[in-house]
Amino acid sequence: MQNTIVPAAGASGAPSTLFIDGDWRAAGSGETFASIDPATGEHVGDVSAADAADVTAAVRSARAAFDERRWTRLPYPRRAEIMFDIADRIDAAAEELAVAEVRENGMPLAGALRTIQNGAQAFRYYGGWVGKIRGETGEVAPGEAYHAFTVKEPVGVAALIVPWNGPFMLACHKLAPALAAGCAIVLKPAEDTSLNTAALVRIAVEAGVPRGVVNMVTGLGTVTGQALADHPDVDKISFTGSTATGRTLVRAAAGNFKRLSLELGGKSPVIVMDDADLELAVPGVLTGIMSNSGQACIAGSRLYAQRGIYDRLVDAVSEAASKLVVGNGMAEGTQMGPVISRRQLDRVLGYIDSGVAEGARVTTGGSRVGDTGFFVEPTVLADVPAGAKVVREEIFGPVLSAMPFDDLDWAIAQANDSPYGLGGSVYTRSLATAHTVARAVRAGTFWINTGRPQDFTMPFGGYKESGWGREGGLQGVEAYLETKSVIARLY
Ligand code: NAD
Repeated sequence: MQNTIVPAAGASGAPSTLFIDGDWRAAGSGETFASIDPATGEHVGDVSAADAADVTAAVRSARAAFDERRWTRLPYPRRAEIMFDIADRIDAAAEELAVAEVRENGMPLAGALRTIQNGAQAFRYYGGWVGKIRGETGEVAPGEAYHAFTVKEPVGVAALIVPWNGPFMLACHKLAPALAAGCAIVLKPAEDTSLNTAALVRIAVEAGVPRGVVNMVTGLGTVTGQALADHPDVDKISFTGSTATGRTLVRAAAGNFKRLSLELGGKSPVIVMDDADLELAVPGVLTGIMSNSGQACIAGSRLYAQRGIYDRLVDAVSEAASKLVVGNGMAEGTQMGPVISRRQLDRVLGYIDSGVAEGARVTTGGSRVGDTGFFVEPTVLADVPAGAKVVREEIFGPVLSAMPFDDLDWAIAQANDSPYGLGGSVYTRSLATAHTVARAVRAGTFWINTGRPQDFTMPFGGYKESGWGREGGLQGVEAYLETKSVIARLY
């Protein structure tokens, strides 16, 4: 099925995936690149490759919309209504959008549908914040002579830079709070997954978001993304992606002290105690690492299991992993799709080889599946040495590294011995152990006896090199706001 929501090629024949000042356009240079189906290697469509001049046009459009208050001058009930309408339109097109998501990203269709519906819910949740954003009254010396209060104001032009691993949903998770806060936006999807994000922009415009408030530029991160990050008229960057790119953005932001939200990589530890309920731990560990082919920032990729349960757990997780149905996300019954690209395939296989070279034992998987598309077997590496590369670095693939432990303090120390601090979990029947470990692990999200439910009502973000700031909840809106103090003399 074709995604009819994605704009057709422009009159010039060049693809028109740039959305600037209310118009779909090709890149000024006419350059394009291909979007590839990771399950088949087939060409899905062409994407416009924006250069710095295109980015400047998009930023100017957003700046004009912001300065003219085209969005914030709409009464708040109307803004909320538009956001709820975006949600309804996403839901109405959910199946079509899910198919398009599978074609670009590869994830199984049922999971893709859930991510699309989650994106719709984000617009309902954040639409509910519109009209509820408010400041505080304060007191300044000498007391009654002054009236002091704070006002929350949108930060301005926000650049939203999104990765490919949950492209539509992650774009929604940024666009919805940025709109709720009153920003004007330039959205930049990832190279591999730009087409379905164009559909989101089209839906936002059809729902009534005024001209120039939402713009989109597609293109290479190092060209288009970098130009956006460097642009002096961008006030805020909200980025989800790799820690390496996050570091580049910190430097880019220094030019005009852009506000920065960074949702970066992870290497989340899973600690399983001898007293754990295996009925919970086995599926929890499995989905924690294998969902989305391991391409999740929050993936539980390091398993520390207490000695008494270690062998049973590794065997059970390996057996369950070996039974996962790997295939085209569009095929009935597929539980795990491909990784996103040839580059990612080579990277993941390279990590598996390095784990084996450093002494790990492969209990299941370890190889590519077939020779069409980019499929990797769900892989469990057991008895991995603590300092191995597969334990230290984010693989972003379906690869679990398992290690036994005797002493919980050692396991906690290992869990924290990482530059990352995005997530973690513990499986135990002991309430005291559960809460002790939850407090001891330095991570932005922690789960007890569960794999990984996430909800945008809950703040989400990383400690250490996993990022700056939080998305989700009120903090997610605050990330797009400035606070102004107003002090009025009364007499
Ligand atoms: P990436 O950093 O390569 O790319 C992410 C986005 O940044 C893309 O849109 C890309 O075009 C753009 N980009 C790349 N270089 C840029 C530059 N120099 N300037 C501006 N923009 C640039 O990451 P990826 O490989 O697409 O995504 C995988 C990474 O994302 C993993 O590390 C994963 O952990 C992380 N991630 C984090 C979260 C989170 O919430 N913490 C969620 C999903 C993914």
